[in-house]
Amino acid sequence: MNLHPSTFWQRECTLCGACCVAPDISALQKPLGLACRHLDAGCRCTNYRQRPPVCRNYTPDWVCGEVAPLPTLELRVARYLEIYGLAAPPDG
Ligand code: SF4
Ligand code: SF4
Repeated sequence: MNLHPSTFWQRECTLCGACCVAPDISALQKPLGLACRHLDAGCRCTNYRQRPPVCRNYTPDWVCGEVAPLPTLELRVARYLEIYGLAAPPDG
């Protein structure tokens, strides 16, 4: 398992969707690994103006640089969970 950043620091959110799927978010009753009910198919928040503080306060960091470039949301979520030690990485 590789927990170290292998990419450059990324400060811009690219709307990859991983942080709206991977973590559990108690304020939204969102379980680990399942997409937030407010996330649309394009990885945009449909509740942006009323999103909770945990979402408002989330800022892009090196984890984004690790997950956002991956080609599918499934892979992005798997890597996000791996980094935080929340789930096993995908096979392969
Ligand atoms: S993981 Fe980072 S790049 Fe992806 S949606 Fe969240 S903040 Fe944006
Ligand atoms: S409320 Fe919006 S920003 Fe927060 S996890 Fe859901 S989709 Fe993402």
